[in-house]
This record gives sequence, C-alpha cells and structure tokens, in this order.
Amino acid sequence: MTVLDDILAHNARFVADRNRPLTKAPAKKVAIFTCMDTRLVEFLEPAMGLRRGDAMVIKNAGTTVIDPTGGVIRSLVVAVHALGCAEIYVIGHLDCWMAQVDEATLERRMLESGVPQAAIDGLHPNLSEWLGNFRDVYGNVRRVTAIIRENPLIPRDVPVHGLMFDPASGSLELLERGHEG
Ligand SMILES: [Zn+2]
Repeated sequence: MTVLDDILAHNARFVADRNRPLTKAPAKKVAIFTCMDTRLVEFLEPAMGLRRGDAMVIKNAGTTVIDPTGGVIRSLVVAVHALGCAEIYVIGHLDCWMAQVDEATLERRMLESGVPQAAIDGLHPNLSEWLGNFRDVYGNVRRVTAIIRENPLIPRDVPVHGLMFDPASGSLELLERGHEG
C-alpha cells in the first residue's frame, strides 16, 4: 500500500485549481489585515476557506496600525478603491509576540547587533510607541478595527470586521461584525 494514488489524485486537483482563472482583483472581494506570525502561514487562509486569488492579505507585526496614513491604510486604500475589496477583516491572534515584547530586551538586542543608539533614540516619539506593542490582543483588534472604520479614506459602506484567530486550533472568534453603510 503506497500513497502514490493519493498523491496523483491530489496533484490532479492541484493542477485544476491552478488553472482556475486568477486576476489581480480578489475573487471574494475581501481584504484581510493580520499578523506576520509564522503559525498563520498556510493556516489562516485555509481555516477561512480562502484560496489563492480570493483575498488580499496585508500583514505586519501584531496587526497594528500606528500611522493613520501609513502602510496599512495605504494598502487598504488600494485594496478597496483599485482592486474592488468590499469587506475588510482585521484578524488578531492568541499568543501574539507583540503582546509579550519587552522593549528593554529588544533595545539591548538592537544595540548588541550594532544598531546605533542615536538611531533608536530617533524613533518617533520613542521605541515603545513606534513599536506599537500592546498588552491585550483583544483590545488591539477592537482598536485597529475602529481606526480603520473611522479613517476618512475608507468608505463607510465597507464593513470592517474584527476577529480573533487561535494559531493552535485554527478557530476564529468573531469580536465585531462590521456593518454596511
Ligand atoms: Zn502576532
């Protein structure tokens, strides 16, 4: 008994899936903003039933928004206004490193790596706030969801949902359901 037949059958499905016409615009018209955590790779999208071509996925450390005109909002503006995303999903996760980071340890490691103290001191307004770390993963999702909803560059009729993901079990918990309009 070998797994050859399973592999060949899987490969046929894989090739058929790859032959699905893909466009730059996401088929399900959704934009996902989540964390860069390694445990979410090849795990969050399958847990949501999303396949290649379905969604635009924006990631950073901690699913945080520091600058209301910065990179996250810029990406969401493009997703919504240029590529037709009609829903935004803010997805934090349990056991996020950004809820556990110790700024003093991080600063020491940066200095040990040769980063000049002046470069750290130049971060605005300081390392801690520039880093955007938090203590409460739930509070962070609610805060970021509100920031995106209130951003004048994001249309009011685009629902912004807030969810929590468990990188161990793969379960999604709905924290806030976005409203249309
Ligand atoms: Zn994280």
